[in-house]
Amino acid sequence: MRSRGVIAFALRSNALTNIRSLSSSTQRSMAANNDLLSFHINRLKSSPKQSLLLDGGTGEELFLHGVPDDRKIWSATAIVQEEYHDIVEKVHRSFIEAGSQAITTNSYGIIPGAGFIDGEEVKRLTGAAGEIGRRAVTNDGTATALVLGSLGPLVESYRADLIMKHEDGVRCYQYPIEGLYPYVDLYLAETMSCTEEACQVIDALATAKGGDCKHPLLISFTLSGDGKLRSGELVVDCIPKVIKFADQKNVELTGILFNCCEPEAISIAMKKIESNTKIYQYMHHPPRGTSSGSNSVTSKVFIGAYANKLTAVDPNWTMATSTAAQPMRDDLPPNEYWKFVKGWHNADGVQLIGGCCGIGPAHISCLRDNLMLSDK
Ligand SMILES: [Zn+2]
Repeated sequence: MRSRGVIAFALRSNALTNIRSLSSSTQRSMAANNDLLSFHINRLKSSPKQSLLLDGGTGEELFLHGVPDDRKIWSATAIVQEEYHDIVEKVHRSFIEAGSQAITTNSYGIIPGAGFIDGEEVKRLTGAAGEIGRRAVTNDGTATALVLGSLGPLVESYRADLIMKHEDGVRCYQYPIEGLYPYVDLYLAETMSCTEEACQVIDALATAKGGDCKHPLLISFTLSGDGKLRSGELVVDCIPKVIKFADQKNVELTGILFNCCEPEAISIAMKKIESNTKIYQYMHHPPRGTSSGSNSVTSKVFIGAYANKLTAVDPNWTMATSTAAQPMRDDLPPNEYWKFVKGWHNADGVQLIGGCCGIGPAHISCLRDNLMLSDK
């Protein structure tokens, strides 16, 4: 829930037109950094003890820094209204200072469900979010962290029953994919509630700009309290399906993650993965240091997790009908969150680690300190 949708297609257009378009030279100078990405990928492949520390929940952090939560376009406000761009950059930098090795662009909420129905506007706004992210990681021309281009659910978060038809979803995802392309190292499809939603992103990535948007992809699923996808699908069924679909579409799927749900739900999903050895072949580093098998004929992924600090969300929740922010739990301070992460990382082969809504820089800093100790 970096952001949430509302069926309100009548929203503005004027407010969206003042985002400056970027010169091609600016885009080139801020281009993604393949060396840093290769460095991290090789490191992660070398040992399950290696981890990549992601950021926390950018949307909630923006509100803490003064961006108003309008309950309509949510964190997209910080991109639509240029006066908040500095705050977005500041929040990205606060995560890097806390130890994040990758930050996530604030583009999650720029979706049709929140009223962003003009594809060119979506491209321009997601481009602005990408540019801010790239600027935040750049010091003296050198990238200090990876930039993940966030792609959120197109209509509503957590609602597998409200996703678009395949062709419509593919078309809508092509705009943010193109907008983010010059600035990001990987795409991150977040809070996906079913396999089909993730397949729409894969298809869009394969076809956007005639197949020219060739960054690797991370797909992150949100889970119900029972450890299944919000759609009710089993994670052990979903993982092979998306990997095969990405292979078929010639899309480089680098990781499968779980996000924006309770950490307890992720722990349940990890146990299901651990007890199903058939899917070990899809993982670079399966649970408990077991081998992924040499007879594998498939691509492999890294596994990741970034839970939220929210209380359990009602299955019928929508941004459109919500009147107040979802309450936060008070039992997940940094050291308590680390206990979950420690289990996932040490036992379950989880290497891509971060936090979602309500997980801030203090949590990331705690994870960094503990991961450094535990990985030695
Ligand atoms: Zn979230």
